[in-house]
Amino acid sequence: MDAGEMDGALGETIEISGIVQGVGFRPFVYRLALRLGLDGTVSNAGGRVLIHAGGPRAALDAFAAALVAEAPPLARIERVERRPAALPEPGFRIVESGAGTVSIGVVPDVATCPACLAEIADPTARRYRYAFTNCTDCGPRFSIVAGLPYDRPATTMAGFPMCPACRAEYENPADRRFHAQPIACPACGPRLWLEREGTEIASGDPIHDAAELLRTGRILAVKGIGGFHIACDATDADAVATLRARKHRPTKPLAVMADLPTAHRLCVISPEEEAALLAPSAPILLLPLRPDAGLSPSLAPGQSHLGLMLPYTPLHHLLIAAAGRPLVMTSGNRSSEPQIFRDDEARAGLAGVVDGFLLHDRPIARRLDDSVARFAAGGLRVIRRGRGFAPLPLALPEDFDGAPPVLAMGGELKSALCLTHGARALLSHHLGDLDEPATGDAFETALADYSALFAHTPQVIAADLHPDYRASRLGAALAEARGLPLESVQHHHAHIAAAMAENGWRRADGKVVGIALDGLGLGEDGTVWGAEVLVCDYRECRRIARLSPIPLAGGDAASREPWRVLLAHLDRALGRAAVDGDAGLAKLFAGKPVPTLRAMMDKGLNAPLASSAGRLFDAVAALLGLAPDRLSHEGEAAMALEAVAEGEAAPYPFAIAAQGDLMEIDPAPLWRALLADLASGRPLPAMAAAFHAGLADAFVSVATKAADEAGIHAVALSGGVFQNVRLLEETVARLRARGLTPLIPSHVPANDGGLALGQAVVAAARQMA
Ligand SMILES: [Zn+2]
Ligand SMILES: [Zn+2]
Repeated sequence: MDAGEMDGALGETIEISGIVQGVGFRPFVYRLALRLGLDGTVSNAGGRVLIHAGGPRAALDAFAAALVAEAPPLARIERVERRPAALPEPGFRIVESGAGTVSIGVVPDVATCPACLAEIADPTARRYRYAFTNCTDCGPRFSIVAGLPYDRPATTMAGFPMCPACRAEYENPADRRFHAQPIACPACGPRLWLEREGTEIASGDPIHDAAELLRTGRILAVKGIGGFHIACDATDADAVATLRARKHRPTKPLAVMADLPTAHRLCVISPEEEAALLAPSAPILLLPLRPDAGLSPSLAPGQSHLGLMLPYTPLHHLLIAAAGRPLVMTSGNRSSEPQIFRDDEARAGLAGVVDGFLLHDRPIARRLDDSVARFAAGGLRVIRRGRGFAPLPLALPEDFDGAPPVLAMGGELKSALCLTHGARALLSHHLGDLDEPATGDAFETALADYSALFAHTPQVIAADLHPDYRASRLGAALAEARGLPLESVQHHHAHIAAAMAENGWRRADGKVVGIALDGLGLGEDGTVWGAEVLVCDYRECRRIARLSPIPLAGGDAASREPWRVLLAHLDRALGRAAVDGDAGLAKLFAGKPVPTLRAMMDKGLNAPLASSAGRLFDAVAALLGLAPDRLSHEGEAAMALEAVAEGEAAPYPFAIAAQGDLMEIDPAPLWRALLADLASGRPLPAMAAAFHAGLADAFVSVATKAADEAGIHAVALSGGVFQNVRLLEETVARLRARGLTPLIPSHVPANDGGLALGQAVVAAARQMA
């Protein structure tokens, strides 16, 4: 008989690992133990939660089941281990963490929970209409953490001493605010005010006054969780036009915030999409816009989808309710600079953009952009990983256990860092484009920030093969300074490796076929790649096919001016005489410096060869009249092409031929078919659909051949072009029809925002030998 077994009562220790610290887990355990009448203690122990419990067998079993089933929304339970133990003392207590206890848990910021929402709507509650209400289940986290352990003095709430009422809640294990570090109320917490021309507007109700300004067409800066938004009435075309003009943002889509009933009136929302909108991460979701939505048409010109989010702080809930309409909530920055998150920078930087500021005095510890996602191929696809997702760790496949810690530097655009520790990877939030000087500084700050916060000391540095990327240079300098190995990882290998890792592909699982479709990345042969079929494992990568390369006349200029790429494609496919002899094309290229470009291409002068899928989209969009002469943002033409595509269409043909060991996917037949259809007046939606189907068809047939020859059953898809839902779904359907398993990124962006994860796992695998 067990020593602890008396009167039918048993003793047990229960050890829980996963993300269980800083998420309200111990008070949850306490309340659960009281409910089930158990004795014992709960404590944090080295990143795990340790419970010593005593009671009848049935109650202990119910307890263990409820620990998993009813865990707080932020917790991620990885393992529960139960062992017999002596009976505990009567009663249940929370044991304080001793000094030196390492807290692993820094969790993402969490959207306002239903309980807090009910409280701010209750006129009898002391937090009625209080914009900074939060509890252990919700509120700011990563955006207020300045250091570890995660405790109030190490957050930007340090300057707000708790009032006695908040203190009592904070110290009461039965209260839902027990140890909620950002706990606050109107008596002791952050304050909200409205400011115009440097002066605080004396106002009893800044929310009401801000809403009034928005309703009358004014533009406001609103300080939120991870930075400033610029807000205006989304139904007011003049206000939207003014915002665009002042922000120098002519066409890039603007995100909208609305309450749920309004969201349903604006967009078609599936149950899965509604759940994602309401989730603690509360991302911006790209959703099909209803034609009768009544929004300003200039919100997302040429797009079929709208970026929509629900209010995710009490401040946003109150503001949206007071405004009584959907609001534009676009990042508060100038042009392509990083989002502003400090008050003084906002006052200086946004003075010419906004008519007023809705401010508060809780500092933001780090910039966190809103996350952006959409649903495609049956799952959530994160496009920008920011607030609400970072810094949730990603579990790597189990045989990465024992890997040396890696710091991966990411790419040049949509930069993000990745820090690994054994079989866990921490992919940072979106840090912006490093070709912007201001972003470069923010990147270095983030590197220091993450390394310190997560006490990370790398043994390997991983970077893109491109030596001139700012991140690669920084990585090389770090490796040099610390005497660490530097692993250079080819851009598309990193894309595919990220998709493998997120899908649990183990090192032991061997090779996959990878289809990498994106804009541009430096290839192993020194040319620019962007539409490749690879056969790879984590360590090595062999290219077996590419899209036929074309010269990008003017280099970067070709990425901004689609007609340059169109000219190169048509010259290659039809010959110059045929291009010049076509009346329609002559009109298209009228006034363009065609002879100069051709001379550059002939001489190879600032005309690098590239096999880019992104540029193929640009060129097709240009031919179909869907691209302006000069793009105002990356992906503009490709998104217009996706938006116009409609229905099923037979795929346009591509030629597939071997060039030595390399297969070449040649779009020449596509161009002939497109020109013939244009001449015969085929509707654009069908032509765009046939293009998507044709591209998917060509790459899947090459991938299938490679998979068959090598006895491979999995095909990983990645690269920014796979953000295109139609292309992704056409590709996935074809792979499945051929019995192949697609590996698709979900919480890791398919675009360059996911590169760092791929670099990290490749470097780790190479070091593990
Ligand atoms: Zn709450
Ligand atoms: Zn208080």
